[in-house]
Amino acid sequence: MKIQPTLVALLLFATPAFARLNVVTTTQDPAAITRAIGGDRVSVKALAKGYQDPHFVDPKPTFMVDLNRADLFVMIGLELETGYASALISGSHNDKLASGQPGHLDLSQFIAPLEAVPLADRGQGDIHPAGNPHYWLDPENGRLMARAIAARLSQLDPEGKATYSANLAAFEKTLSARELEWSKKLARLEGQPIITYHRSWSYFASRYKLEVVGFIEPKPGIPPTPGHTLELIRLVQARGIKLILMEGFYDKRYPELIASKTGIKVAAVPNSVGGTEQVTTYFELFDAIVTAISAAAGT
Ligand SMILES: [Zn+2]
Repeated sequence: MKIQPTLVALLLFATPAFARLNVVTTTQDPAAITRAIGGDRVSVKALAKGYQDPHFVDPKPTFMVDLNRADLFVMIGLELETGYASALISGSHNDKLASGQPGHLDLSQFIAPLEAVPLADRGQGDIHPAGNPHYWLDPENGRLMARAIAARLSQLDPEGKATYSANLAAFEKTLSARELEWSKKLARLEGQPIITYHRSWSYFASRYKLEVVGFIEPKPGIPPTPGHTLELIRLVQARGIKLILMEGFYDKRYPELIASKTGIKVAAVPNSVGGTEQVTTYFELFDAIVTAISAAAGT
């Protein structure tokens, strides 16, 4: 086969002069942030899809192939990925990604966890005993995640340090501007009681001063029951609660039952980048959440 010289020139032109860092993340949120910080110096792949329940990810054999080739593994931590992360890392036969190595980044070490359960008090149904892992739903934690990612990319690829610093500065500037918009849109809900499906909105609620007073799940990770739902209906009526906030991948039957009995509104939102097709960046994630809450709450 004869190859056209122009094609060779094109291929050479399209290949970056440096080797890209190969980054694999567990979920799409650290992936989106890594893309924003790394630009064309990194190639990023997320194992779990944003429209899936992040607690229950099926560890496909292809994931080990991805990890075998990776320079950096990024995870949320706090036992969100307990079911699959360590098995994948050991199965990848890639020593760079072992815990404690520069190629292993557990982002939970850079945020202040909420709701850690003391060892003595841990019981059944506690799927998050080390602290609530849904911290990426506070945009200020997104800032901390971005800083940690920029630092680690700079360590692994010192020649890219100026790029990573500039991209981090741009990310933080946009984040600060958008946070003002999100705060403004949610200001009218400040102090209001809400119900969430899973205990996944603690950081978001804390940032925007919403009070989570009940959960559709009787305990984190335990599916709803008719008895618990009846209690929630009484709670909604007693306190005049106006909003159920839930992830799109959970079953809507119980929330809709409560809505039909009480008139409470249900906002089913993405909780991750990739949660819907429109949400491709960390900023679009909050745009989608804030818009859906505002629409459901009629503000
Ligand atoms: Zn959870």
